[in-house]
Formats: sequence, C-alpha cells, structure tokens
Amino acid sequence: MYGLRWWYKEYSHAQFSEDYWRIKLIQHTLLLSCLVFPILSTINAFGFKNVQLALMDFFGFLLTLAIYFAFRKSGNVKFTAWLISIAVTAVMLYFLISVEGRAYSLVWATIILPFTFFLLGRRGGAALSSITLCVCIYLVSEQASSGIPITISTGAILNVTEAAIVQLLLFRFYEGTRQKAFDQLRAEHKVSKELSETDHLTGVYNRAKFLSLVKTAMATNNAGNHSLAILDIDDFKKINDELGHNEGDNVLKAFTRMLRESTREDDIIARWGGEEFVLLLQNVSAVQAKARLNELLAMNQCITPLNTPVLFSAGIVQCKRGEVTDELIRVADEALYQAKHDGKARAYIAT
Ligand code: GH3
Ligand code: MG
Ligand code: MG
Repeated sequence: MYGLRWWYKEYSHAQFSEDYWRIKLIQHTLLLSCLVFPILSTINAFGFKNVQLALMDFFGFLLTLAIYFAFRKSGNVKFTAWLISIAVTAVMLYFLISVEGRAYSLVWATIILPFTFFLLGRRGGAALSSITLCVCIYLVSEQASSGIPITISTGAILNVTEAAIVQLLLFRFYEGTRQKAFDQLRAEHKVSKELSETDHLTGVYNRAKFLSLVKTAMATNNAGNHSLAILDIDDFKKINDELGHNEGDNVLKAFTRMLRESTREDDIIARWGGEEFVLLLQNVSAVQAKARLNELLAMNQCITPLNTPVLFSAGIVQCKRGEVTDELIRVADEALYQAKHDGKARAYIAT
C-alpha cells in the first residue's frame, strides 16, 4: 500500500483540473508497463527462449522506469504525456506492422484514440490517432490485395479479449473523470450561486437577490396582497461606538436571527446595506405588517451586550401589481424617514 502511495505521488495540480487526471493516467500507464514488461521478458527468455525479444522487453522496462523518474523529478505533464503517447503509439504500430494486422490485432489500434485524446487533447489526439488509423487502413488494403484467405486462430481471441479489456478500462476511467469533474462543477456552482445571492455577514439575501425576487413577485396576480417594509436599526452608530465594530457586527447577526425567527417561511428577508433590512411580506397587508412590526418592537427580543434593546424604525408600503421595485422602496423609505423624524422605534405605512 505504501509503495502504491509512493508511486502515485501528488503534484501541485488543482484537483479535478485536466492535468490532475492526465497525471493519474500517466501513473497508471507507467505502473502497468513496469509490471507487464518484466513478465513478458521472463516468458520470452525462459518460455520461448527468444533472447532478442526478452532483451527488447527488458529495455521497455528500463525505459518506463526512466520516464517515470524523469516525470517524478520534473513534474512536466505536457512533455511526459507526449513522450508516453508517442511511445505507446510507436509500440502499437510496430506490433501491428510486424503481424501485418492479422488475427484481429487491428482492434488494438482502437485504444490509441481514447488514450491519446485524453493525454494530448484534441489536436495531439487527432494527429496520433489519424496516423494509427491510416496504418490500419494500409494493412487491411495489403491483406485485401494479397488474396490470402483469413484464418482465425487462438491469437485472434486473445487480441480481441485483451484489447476489449483495455478499452473498457480506458473508457471507465474516461467516464469517471468526466463524472467527477461534473459533480465538482455542480458543487462549485451551488456555492458561488449562494455567495452571489447572500449577504456574507448575516446570511440573509443581499440587495440584488431581493430586487430580483420582488420583481418576480410584482409580476404575479397576487402582487397586490403583499407588503414591503424597510427597517433601519435605531442609533446603531451608538452601539458601534460603545461596543466596537465587531460587537456591532454581532448585533446585526442577532438582529437578523430575531427577524428570521419572527417571520414566516413565505417572508423574504434581505440586508439592504449597513443596518438596514428589507422585508417582502407575502399575503400580508400593510396594516397587518404594521401590527406585526409593532409587536416585534414591543417584545424587545434582541438585546445588546449592554442590556439595551435593539430597536428599529420601519416604513411599509402596500404592493401593487406591476409596480417597479425602486418606486416601492422609495415610498417605503419616505415612511421610514417620517418614523425616524417622529421619534424612532415605530412603523409607519406610506400614504
Ligand atoms: P438612526 O437611528 O438615525 O438610524 O441612526 P444610526 O446611528 O442607526 O444611523 P447612522 O446612519 O448614523 O449610522 C449607521 C452606522 O452603521 C454607521 C456605520 O458605521 C454602521 N455600519 C454600517 N454597516 C455596518 C456593518 O456592517 N457593521 C457594523 N458593525 N457597523 C456598520
Ligand atoms: Mg441607516
Ligand atoms: Mg440606523
């Protein structure tokens, strides 16, 4: 296990980047070569007594190790990907030409496509694949013109079976990386969507999201049943001055929690900016909204560390179908201004 972990060295590439997966395929391929070449070399030396082939296999083993250690040291993905792609394609073509493409050996050529496209991308993959496929066509045309009848041997079964297994493994790898990349993308999209819609301090919607939600709500037949309120914490500057900015932030968070807990699921809460919040109270009339906000003020649920209640003033407007959000806010803001002017800690309905 330690050996495998050592072999699959982690490079500094971002996970799920193209290179991250290319490195994995490079490591898989080199590991496989390191295992297969010694086996072939032994079989050729002692089984078939073919010293020349055995030496070639041994050379293949040494070359694989050399590529692996060079890659381990340099971490150069592009160069190694090309080196391995050219080596695999060359070995494949050497094999196909030496057996003249007989006994279904040509199915081996099909693994060059997923392999080189994955490692080299569109252009490199197309180039090496085209060369391989051209050689296949040439070999078949040679067979066709030779007139020698085709006989199917055990070698043919082996060729088709082995190439099918390799092909299957390659595509399984291919699909696995695609799926992981897709999952990652979806998760990141979700996070960035949430970030773009929420206020980072309080976790409620931000101004932009609120505007878009109100716009949608105002386009429905039901729009006239909703009301919009703008809340501004009273004397927040004093809270900041007395407790410091950090504690001020905590008060904003606590105030948001209080708003959340005392509103219904339908209600949309957003931070308008600073110590101002906006609410879209769905299926709540302005009169009902005023009663609810006054209730909140009376309950004094949100208390600062100095034991003083966090009070607010509010302006409320009854919504109208097709009304522009800016206009609703402007009218509610006027009512808020009036509430501040008349002594704060109160909610007014815009007239
Ligand atoms: P009023 O009752 O008239 O609303 O007075 P106020 O003090 O609440 O209003 P003012 O506009 O004078 O001050 C608002 C203060 O809110 C000033 C600003 O520093 C503070 N503030 C704005 N955003 C933040 C924030 O994110 N965190 C903290 N801690 N303070 C903030
Ligand atoms: Mg303010
Ligand atoms: Mg204020």
